[in-house]
Order: sequence, then C-alpha cells, then structure tokens
Amino acid sequence: MKFIDNEIPHEPQRFQRIYIYFAACKLGFRAGCRKIVRVDGCWLKDTMFRTQLLSVVGMDGNNNIFHVAYAIVEKESKDTGLDILKLDIDAPTWLNDKDHSEWSMSHFSSDAKCDTLLNNLSEVFNGIILDARDKPIMTLLEKLRYIRMARMLANREKIAAVEYVPRKSNYWSYKILGATVTDNWAVDLQNKSCSCRKWSLTGIPCKHVIAAIWAKKDNILDYVHDCYKVETYRRIYENSIFPMNGPQLWPKTSKVPPLPPKIVVESGGKNIEVVVMTKEHGLKQLEEDEIDAIVA
Ligand SMILES: [Zn+2]
Repeated sequence: MKFIDNEIPHEPQRFQRIYIYFAACKLGFRAGCRKIVRVDGCWLKDTMFRTQLLSVVGMDGNNNIFHVAYAIVEKESKDTGLDILKLDIDAPTWLNDKDHSEWSMSHFSSDAKCDTLLNNLSEVFNGIILDARDKPIMTLLEKLRYIRMARMLANREKIAAVEYVPRKSNYWSYKILGATVTDNWAVDLQNKSCSCRKWSLTGIPCKHVIAAIWAKKDNILDYVHDCYKVETYRRIYENSIFPMNGPQLWPKTSKVPPLPPKIVVESGGKNIEVVVMTKEHGLKQLEEDEIDAIVA
C-alpha cells in the first residue's frame, strides 16, 4: 500500500494505491499455471470514482482463469511499481517498447504452453467482480479476497476428490473409497447427503460427493443448494415495501379502538391478569397495594 503526503502540513497522509499478491496465488501460479498472463483494467464507480482496478489473470492447465494479483490505482498512475499493469492504459505505446515475444502469439516461447492470447480471461474476471465495482474500498477489497478464497477452496475440493474411488450402489448411491478403511463414505445424490455431513450442513458438495458426481457424469453445479444461486438471491429481494403516508393522512375508521394487551402480574406461581382501563381507553398504572388487594 502506498500513501502520499497531505497537501496540508501535519495532517495524516492520504491513500494512493494498493497492490495485492497473495502468497497462495504467487505459489499457485509458479507451481504450474501456464506461463502467460492477461493484464486488464476496469474503472471503479461511485465512492471509488476515478480509480481503477488492475488485474493480472492467468490460466491453469484446465483452461480455468487463475487470478494472480490485483491493484487499485489512481487514474493518473504512472508508477504502480508494476510495469506490466500498464498494458491497457496506453497499450500501443507500451507494446511498441516491448519485445514481440512478450505479447504477440506468433512470437510466443513454447514455455507458455498456451495457444490463446487470453482475450476472454479478463472479461470473465470482470464479470465475476461486477457487483463489487461500486463498493467502498474496504468492501471491494473484502469481496475480491473472498472471491479468491472461494475459488481456491472449490478447486482444492475438486483435486481432493480425485483421490477417491467411487463404487456405484444404485442409480443415485455410491460408496466412496479413500486410502484407508476409515476413509470410506456413503453418498446419496438423490437425497443430497454424504455420511461426512459436510454437504448437508453447507449445501456445497464435499470431495466425496464430487467423486460420485463425476462417476455419474453429472454437473457439479446441479448439486449445489439453490440458496447459493443468483436467481434465488434475486427472488428473495424482488418484492418491494412501498412507502406510505403519515398518520394524519390515514383514512378514519368508525370502529371502536381495540384495547391494549393484558398485563400479567405473577404471584406465588399463579398468573393473575390485571387490566384496568381509564375513560380514555388508556392503561391506569396500579399501585402496589391495589395489586396486593387483587392477589389476596
Ligand atoms: Zn462427504
């Protein structure tokens, strides 16, 4: 994170930019992603107006996007500390200064293990973070962190599922065999249960369930609980509570106003109802001796 001096002497410094490169992403990228990245920038909105989110997105061996790093920088940023992140700011000039092997597919080294220029990867990433782009900086950063955390977790579960051998019992049920006798699990895809209970508790298929889904050649997303789906979220909030006028504009009723609720005084294990109304239909506060007289 970088700060700049306040234009007013002796006042706190101002936030300028932040660059985030999680160790897990760094290690993951170096461990086996294709040696190529797509760099892109998208403008942020509302409270983050005139700042942009620069993202570095790579690709794993399964052609899924791998989010490597990101930065939030001011519009006129000329020194992000990440020369590579300037790609979309002044692309033609920037590219002319670079060796063709850095950006032209015809000049790619065979090390990249990739036959695409990743044009869609940044678009996919920008689509994922669409609803975070108009949020204040802390909310935005938390959402970005959550997206990374959730993707890393989901893909880890998939990898863990590879270590299990599914044995089909019937059309919906599988016995999932792990490396030891204590690592065997019963999965019922129809009733959405696994004996480890993780699926029932979270609504997200565990590694045993994923192994069964793969064996059945189904889509994992079809087994995620509906509460996680965007359509469910939309339905939850699609109804509005409409504004209404103040009491002075409410229609008058000819009915007698209802009485207030009963007041119950507890005495000696017995509940005794004490309701006293005044002429104005308001409650009269009973004195202690009056309550004692009723209880006696
Ligand atoms: Zn399980």
